[in-house]
Amino acid sequence: MDDSSFNSMASEIEGLLGIDKNHRANWAFPTRAVHGYGAFPDPAGAVSTPIYQSATFGHPALHQSTGFAYSRCGNPTVLELEDTVALLEGGLKALAFCSGMAAISCMVKLFESGDTVLVSDDVYGGTHRLLQDVYASRYGIDFKPIDFRDLAAVEAACEEGVAAFFVETPTNPTMKVADLRALAELAHANDALLIVDNTFLTCYFQRPLELGADLVVYSGTKYLCGHNDVICGFLVIRDERLLEHVFMDYMSEGDALGPFDAWLMLRSLKTMALRLDAQQANALKVCSFLK
Ligand SMILES: *Cc1c(COP(=O)(O)O)cnc(C)c1O
Repeated sequence: MDDSSFNSMASEIEGLLGIDKNHRANWAFPTRAVHGYGAFPDPAGAVSTPIYQSATFGHPALHQSTGFAYSRCGNPTVLELEDTVALLEGGLKALAFCSGMAAISCMVKLFESGDTVLVSDDVYGGTHRLLQDVYASRYGIDFKPIDFRDLAAVEAACEEGVAAFFVETPTNPTMKVADLRALAELAHANDALLIVDNTFLTCYFQRPLELGADLVVYSGTKYLCGHNDVICGFLVIRDERLLEHVFMDYMSEGDALGPFDAWLMLRSLKTMALRLDAQQANALKVCSFLK
């Protein structure tokens, strides 16, 4: 699907459902997290988004659509989750995947054999395995490990031409912290994308898109979920440029999140601000005690 047909489909759906895209953007974070995007006013007045446990969707008549056809490509419960995550992260669009690794795998398909991507030198172990043992060794994409705290080293690495920086910050598990604003400047000066794995801080504590990143990657399994009962991932896209490419891969590959897991994640997001505040306060107490 090209950009214009995607956009016209999106505005058609919004028109059908009477959605004003920006109506909740100015609410405080915890309020947005509790109420979500609110795309589908339920006829029965359900406050909790219903679980649309349906693979296929009927069309009202020829040339008419509810906006949904087949849940691999779009499902109302999943869309409500995606739009809520986009609203919280400050992105144009979010896509929900059945794991963080599936989201990262979809992100890697922005690149081609022969491309070089700089990647944090102590990324999450599963990410390292996917990048090096699958994509580097079989598909010829060069993932060069680097310490993103060392801006001079990053600048030097750019001299040979890079397609993107893939930054995990803080890194899992050694908690290296990178300067995203400086990296965004450096990436864009070298025509490279800045892609950030925001799993550890979440959009409650850090919003990479506001700091200049082009794409945010998540394992939603960790702090976004917070209940240890869902495996899921997200890609959050800053603007139109990457949307068509990423959306095409997402609906073609078939690793979208299921509606029940999407509902569990919507439940999770509602308490996100409270959970993360409590976790931060507790961590600080432990820290002070140890000190
Ligand atoms: C867990 C994790 C992933 C992988 O996500 P899954 O949901 O386990 O597939 C990716 N990045 C980071 C930083 C993680 O902690």
